[in-house]
Amino acid sequence: MELIQVIERKKLGFALSDEEIACFAQASVDPATPDYQLSALLMAIRLNGMNAQETTALTLAMARTGDMLSPDVGGITVDKHSTGGVGDTTTLILVPLVAACGGKVLKMSGRGLGHTGGTIDKMESIAGLRATLSQQEMLDIVRRVGCVVAGQSAQLAPADKRLYALRDVTSTVDSIPLIASSIMSKKLASGAQGIVLDVKTGDGALMKTFEDCLKLAQAMVDIGSRAGRRVTALITGMEEPLGSHVGNALEVKEAIDVLSGRTQGPLLQVSLMLGAQMLLLSGLAADAQEAEQKLRGALISGAGLRKLRQMIEAQGGDGLVTQDLSRLPQAKVQLPLHTDEAGYLERVDTTRIGLIAQSLGAGRLQVDDVIDPSVGLVLMKRIGDQVRAGDLLGVIHASDNISAQRAAQALRLALHIGPLPVKAAKQLYALITKDHTEVL
Ligand code: URA
Ligand code: CA
Repeated sequence: MELIQVIERKKLGFALSDEEIACFAQASVDPATPDYQLSALLMAIRLNGMNAQETTALTLAMARTGDMLSPDVGGITVDKHSTGGVGDTTTLILVPLVAACGGKVLKMSGRGLGHTGGTIDKMESIAGLRATLSQQEMLDIVRRVGCVVAGQSAQLAPADKRLYALRDVTSTVDSIPLIASSIMSKKLASGAQGIVLDVKTGDGALMKTFEDCLKLAQAMVDIGSRAGRRVTALITGMEEPLGSHVGNALEVKEAIDVLSGRTQGPLLQVSLMLGAQMLLLSGLAADAQEAEQKLRGALISGAGLRKLRQMIEAQGGDGLVTQDLSRLPQAKVQLPLHTDEAGYLERVDTTRIGLIAQSLGAGRLQVDDVIDPSVGLVLMKRIGDQVRAGDLLGVIHASDNISAQRAAQALRLALHIGPLPVKAAKQLYALITKDHTEVL
């Protein structure tokens, strides 16, 4: 079969057969296939869509272009995937909590992308920690400690690597079947038996409308279920950064603060909701309430924090950071931002805040940029909070005064203060399982 025939059929709006889809996936890992043919087909899919059968076939075909792992760790392995947010450190909180409750967490994470942070970059701000592990090392650590968080190997779904890079430069990222197959091909290949998906909605998110988020979440749950995995998706809010800290070492600090019981609020709340679904998929709780209670128990007893330390040490890192935050990298300059306005924080430009942290050096502007783990920002107000003249809005953590000043000015513009009281931002929008969608 020739790829041009597959392009022709999708251009005319037909549903592709399994054979045609296999041809596409194979062609995308064949260096002899020209980028223009793959790009043409991606655009035809973007414009004409794919049905559930096609999307599942594409996901499986993409997964099969690389290694298909089936980890044996003496229990159900669970993974969690977020579509990407700002100040979103749930992984470093829920992974140790779930493991402390008996879960087996084999978490494949990524680096920062655009305005969103990546767990691997955050973890590497801990001295000595290795996040690039062999398959054998990952399995050994899960068997011994109960959890591991590591970068994804190039051998997982290589078709996605090439297609994602082409989508990025051909305006074909925003396609539900293409996003769903991209994310799920990697999850299916990594062998997780239970998968919890955190689909973000709001201005810091990948999908801009709630309707599209719902369709994306349903598509991913459908693919996973058809492929024989247990999958649950939550749609959670990204109207403002989830935690108050944005930046690599700053987010590690906040995760440790949460696990130490010093910090509560939306970051803990969302971590518990996602973690509860992971315990449910692992068969370790009868319902979400019981699961959350177990996780809270592990938080209060300190078992979660101890598990984080064990995991850090198993990955070669300085586990003492969990007791002593001064062991994390500290920025040279800390610049407070005060306001002389009064009112209520009514809106936050979340994407912009991610970009401010990125421009301070917390993220990459080019693939080979080296990030500065110490920089970022801390927010003192959440949507709905009252603001008085003279109040502290945030603190910029920077490597020099000039970049700190620039970031402070930009941050001021990203925080909108109005005269009228507004409600706090919502965290949970919907819960999607194989048979049921609950919109809250
Ligand atoms: N994340 C992915 O891995 N793929 C997409 O297409 C979008 C977000
Ligand atoms: Ca917003």
